[in-house]
Amino acid sequence: MPLAAAGFQTHSALETAGCCSMIPSMRSIVSLLFWIMCASAAAAALTKPERHVVIVVWDGMRPDFVSEQKTPTLWKLAREGVTFRNHHSVYPSATMVNGTAMATGVYPEKSGIIANRVYRPDIDSHHTLDVEVRSVVEKGDQLSGGKYIAAPTIAELVQRTGARTVIAGTKTVGLLLDRQFKVRRNGGAVRSSVTLFAGQSIPTRAVAPITHALGPFPSAHLLKDFWTTKALIGVLWKDSLPAFSILWLGQPDLTQHETAPGAPAAIAAIKSADENLGAVLSALEEQNAHATTDVFVVSDHGFSTIRRSIDLRKILNQSGFTAMTECSGEPKPGDIMLAGNGGSVLFYVIGHDATVTRRLVAFLQQSDFAGVIFTREPMEGTFVLEQARIRSDLAPDVVMAFRWDNSKNQFGIPGMIDADWQRAAGKGTHATLSPWDMHNMLVAAGPDFKHGETDDLPSSNVDLAPTILQIFGIKPLSKIDGRILSEAMPRAISTNGDPQADVVSRKPETKTIEAIKQLSSGTWQQSLQISRVGSTIYLDEGNGSFEAAADKLQGDRHAHRFNWRFAVEPDGKAECPLMQ
Ligand SMILES: [Zn+2]
Ligand SMILES: [Zn+2]
Repeated sequence: MPLAAAGFQTHSALETAGCCSMIPSMRSIVSLLFWIMCASAAAAALTKPERHVVIVVWDGMRPDFVSEQKTPTLWKLAREGVTFRNHHSVYPSATMVNGTAMATGVYPEKSGIIANRVYRPDIDSHHTLDVEVRSVVEKGDQLSGGKYIAAPTIAELVQRTGARTVIAGTKTVGLLLDRQFKVRRNGGAVRSSVTLFAGQSIPTRAVAPITHALGPFPSAHLLKDFWTTKALIGVLWKDSLPAFSILWLGQPDLTQHETAPGAPAAIAAIKSADENLGAVLSALEEQNAHATTDVFVVSDHGFSTIRRSIDLRKILNQSGFTAMTECSGEPKPGDIMLAGNGGSVLFYVIGHDATVTRRLVAFLQQSDFAGVIFTREPMEGTFVLEQARIRSDLAPDVVMAFRWDNSKNQFGIPGMIDADWQRAAGKGTHATLSPWDMHNMLVAAGPDFKHGETDDLPSSNVDLAPTILQIFGIKPLSKIDGRILSEAMPRAISTNGDPQADVVSRKPETKTIEAIKQLSSGTWQQSLQISRVGSTIYLDEGNGSFEAAADKLQGDRHAHRFNWRFAVEPDGKAECPLMQ
């Protein structure tokens, strides 16, 4: 349904439309009263569109933790809507990558946000940086003419129709969901659109009534989520329900990092997310918007437990490389800048030195922690970055997802990974190609979704934007990678807009690709399972292994154990390596 048809009329349209154009010219009190009534009806039409969409993100929520006991509100909502049982995170399975994928409907190669932490020498040649830091985003937009995220977000597209949007994020990811720093000039509804991220806001003044009502942004994880939820429903929704809202909760991610999936504190964090969801649903009831609102409850990625913390900085420097995460001077050609993303690491070889890159890849292929290796240039025993949809102009030379297995953690929860130096063994993290990281949860309920059904077709975070734009009747400005989740919608719609639904023809295809490298010391092998529905692809899982050559096995047994020596506790920031 087009937004205009759904009540998103502009002020000028209202002035000439319907009852108001029939105001009698007689200046009697009666006609004045009539005019006032018309005006209020028009105002009501402006503030009460027929369709609202609310996304509630539970950061890092694994689908296997959804249950009647742990998440009663979500459980009930799932019974009223559709549960997507084969939902996917976008690789790397990290927050900023997936926030951007949800907001744009495109893979990292098109949005430009290929990891949480990257090296962007055009922004800062001395340090790796977090992609969502405000100064980084502003500089990135400056350098690219406003295309730091190279695809439009749902919020931007909804605002173009004259409707209001509200983003409320406990975490800084909120800034990536609608980062328009300039004054919004596109009419009253759009001017009152707000982005709230970790207690800050765009426009800056928007946070004042929130802190006035709720006090300053708190520091405790659970309180942060509570504050942000209250800010959304109690302040930002107070006068009218926007066409489009996102509530991004920090839980259970923050607690699962500090403890591990399944820890009592992590279960309590999940319960808190469920209570915040309950508050959102109650607010929709109070606004009488239940029948006109589609609610998506989704997580950005799954979660794993760290089996070993691998200090690649130390390992590489002790193995003859010059590797660093920051440097007081300019890094030299052949140096390696490391951007740690928990379960994946990005390697930037300065000057794209081919010899160093080849040596690095061979080194990783003989390690006991590498899972899947992607390279900028085709190499034996790797996949190219394009196969993970992470090839951008500023992409690194090598990306490695750590190895994983299905073994259980200290709380009996399956899914263990090796991870970078930032957190200790036994804690939780994510961003690998493990199915425990790559599979996340999605429930959708509301007037545009079927009731009480499950959907086993592959779906992904990139599918949210096209589905939501379809609900609003907005055509994307450019090609989107995701697909409309039409098989879950009663008025089934084809992906290309034909009235004939194409659900039946959408049989998913699954294939596994492999890459092998024979080294003198043994054989490296890696694989990646990819599903496809229509033209949308989904990375299911990927892993790798190194098998020492039989005649070398005895001698290498000692050598291969060397990596254990580098499995260390986190020791703070990486410094420039000692000059050799
Ligand atoms: Zn996250
Ligand atoms: Zn996380």
